[in-house]
Amino acid sequence: MDWNPRPAEELWELISKNDSPSILKGILTEELFHKLKDKKTSFGGTLAHCMSSGCLHFRKNAGIYASDPEAYSVFADIFTEVIRRYHRVEILNHPEPYYGSEEQIRALQNIDPDGETVISTRVRVGRSHAKYPFIPVCSLQNLVDMEKETACALNSLTGELAGKYYSLADLDNATKEQLITDHFLYRHDDETLRDAGLYKFLDKGRGIFFNEAKTFICWVNEEDHVRLISMETGGDIASVYLRLVKAIREMEKRLTFAKKEGYGFLTFCSTNLGTTLRASVLMAIPNVCKQPNFLDVLNKYNIQARGTWGVGSANVDDIYDLSNKRRLGLTEFAAVTEMLNGVRAIKEWEEELVRINKTDK
Ligand code: ADP
Ligand code: MG
Repeated sequence: MDWNPRPAEELWELISKNDSPSILKGILTEELFHKLKDKKTSFGGTLAHCMSSGCLHFRKNAGIYASDPEAYSVFADIFTEVIRRYHRVEILNHPEPYYGSEEQIRALQNIDPDGETVISTRVRVGRSHAKYPFIPVCSLQNLVDMEKETACALNSLTGELAGKYYSLADLDNATKEQLITDHFLYRHDDETLRDAGLYKFLDKGRGIFFNEAKTFICWVNEEDHVRLISMETGGDIASVYLRLVKAIREMEKRLTFAKKEGYGFLTFCSTNLGTTLRASVLMAIPNVCKQPNFLDVLNKYNIQARGTWGVGSANVDDIYDLSNKRRLGLTEFAAVTEMLNGVRAIKEWEEELVRINKTDK
């Protein structure tokens, strides 16, 4: 099914008359609304596309999504401020990509050499085709064409990255459920994304690619046009990250991705801009997560905690998805290192609490 946002005036009524902790609410004045409400990107993206979800769901997040790569320029009065506040940067001067040399990457120490605590390690980046709008502004033909182009690039990968692309429409429900349970595939069950227009023409143009070992995965037209993912069981971050860097380099030879000076790689959600990199481990932290200063410690290390099945899900058996919070204003290598330092500190804290509990008994 197609999707169009409600008229801008209607959305403005909602956001201006209701309380919301979102950044959008904090910066969208009546004057700014009137300045931007009739502007359009060359892809046809409007302010209504960008603020639809944030005006229907009053949650504590950015409250705005980009309709297409150009939205960051056309609606810069809003986006620049949202990005500054979310990423806590004064100016938008994101550095050029730096993934680290192969030597530097290989020197990254296994997070859990004894194989006792870290269930799995995953690093992902998002990429957008420079010549297409983001999904809410895509036509059905755009989605079908993008799927074809991305699948073609993926299916030509060789060696460890070689695998096969599957359209969601061709996977049966049992297979999809198993892939979701195993943390490989995404769900379409987020109402904030639905009201951002991300689920338009849902049965078309979406899919997943994976290699035989399911250590390299690509999501096609999930939230971003392309999500490159490397993951494996255990804590061998060097192996996981090196594979991702290889995949990025190979895909960049085949496709052109949207980038903007000072902003890094452009993504649908402004919280992902810059490196677009989220490096995470799944780990049970039954003692640490009950400490009153748990959130303070996460903040100190710039670590974000998510649920067992990703953002918005619950923590089953005290299993947390711990990842770097910052993606803009630092290099890819620095983002991975930041996650490593934070997760190591949390792991050591958990071990310390286990020791104390044992001594007390
Ligand atoms: P993303 O930022 O990649 O969109 P989400 O929070 O949407 O992440 O989660 C997507 C999926 O990735 C979920 O199934 C989540 O459990 C899984 N995931 C995230 N980190 C890990 C990890 N370290 N090991 C295994 N699965 C993971
Ligand atoms: Mg996600």
